Amino acid sequence: MTQDSFLPFSRPEISEEEIAEVVDTLRSGWVTTGPKAKQFEQDFSHYLTGNESDASIYSVAVNSATAGLHLALEALGIGPGDEVIIPTYTFTATAEVVRYMGATPVLVDIQPDTFNIDPIAIEAAITPSTRMIIPVHFAGLACDMGQILQLAEKYQLRVVEDAAHALPTTWAGKKVGTLGSDACVFSFYANKTMTTGEGGMLVTRHSRIAERAKVMRLHGISKDIFDRYQSNKPNWFYEVIAPGFKYNLTDIAAAIGIQQLKKIDQFHLARERLAQEYNQLLKDLPLRLPTDAPSGDLQARHLYPIRLLDQSAITRDRFIERMAEAGVGCSVHFIPLHLHPYWQSCCHVTPANFPIAQAAFEQEVSLPLFPSMQSEDVVRVVEALKRVLAQE
Ligand SMILES: *Cc1c(COP(=O)(O)O)cnc(C)c1O
Repeated sequence: MTQDSFLPFSRPEISEEEIAEVVDTLRSGWVTTGPKAKQFEQDFSHYLTGNESDASIYSVAVNSATAGLHLALEALGIGPGDEVIIPTYTFTATAEVVRYMGATPVLVDIQPDTFNIDPIAIEAAITPSTRMIIPVHFAGLACDMGQILQLAEKYQLRVVEDAAHALPTTWAGKKVGTLGSDACVFSFYANKTMTTGEGGMLVTRHSRIAERAKVMRLHGISKDIFDRYQSNKPNWFYEVIAPGFKYNLTDIAAAIGIQQLKKIDQFHLARERLAQEYNQLLKDLPLRLPTDAPSGDLQARHLYPIRLLDQSAITRDRFIERMAEAGVGCSVHFIPLHLHPYWQSCCHVTPANFPIAQAAFEQEVSLPLFPSMQSEDVVRVVEALKRVLAQE
């Protein structure tokens, strides 16, 4: 990347392998959900368990993580009157799926160092109506799943992980997706750690949830189209058993996913190396750097979120403006839910209810991070950042 071009905040890594796999799909005559989607699901389960013959988890490919979260809540029977605890520091998708089911999201605060949901705040928010917790592994750093799963057991709650940032992430040496929650949902949106353009994967250890999600992702039809054409029933026959959704992943998208998944460890190595370079070059500056995973664990490094200090002379907004003027794209993760008009009125909340998340939002900046970034790009970001901090 040349010095004078704009360095984007994120960029998908698409190369000839993905293109060839998509072309193969287009030439095959089968473009919607079919053999490639099935292969992508199998490959995904194998990737998470590390074992070809391990049938302990089921992967269900869908056209977004939002769809996957919705299907998980539907399969777990969440409905009106139920309360679902989620962090305020997340993307709106985590909360909107709760409203799709007519249930009530209950927003809670985060931990200051990890940006992850605070288990103490979870326990304080539990009422007799609480049915579920949706932890979000922010930036790809695992939540405290030990405490969350313990709370779930103590209060008989379901756990669905929003793992949109968390491929590959480990907690206590085990990959997110295999930690023993009820379901775990990954995103393949364009800026995530791997992409299918749009797409997601619902992973569960319960065959009942996987089967229900497979039916509901395709109109509530009892067999998906590919199976239908393989079975010995007449090929026009199908039965609708529920008012389902249109959430299936196309084979064109799955083709991209098959090739991206093969490179996910390589992508992760690059992200981790760049994050370590940032850590090294930024360590003496007046900033709070992201929390590293405990040693031996992986953090996916979907984002590299820094925080300006309380006493910083420059505001976060001005900082991002000045970085853009210097040719560096930054972003903010997230505008917490408690600042959005809909969630404020839906959940009857104000910023004062979430002091940790509010402070994090006011100071957070996500620096550019994507696998094809070079060490020179990291240096360029850091030099720009030093100039911006010094000028104020
Ligand atoms: C990106 C994201 C989602 C939604 O993913 P889609 O695949 O775009 O539906 C959900 N939760 C979080 C935390 C995200 O960052």
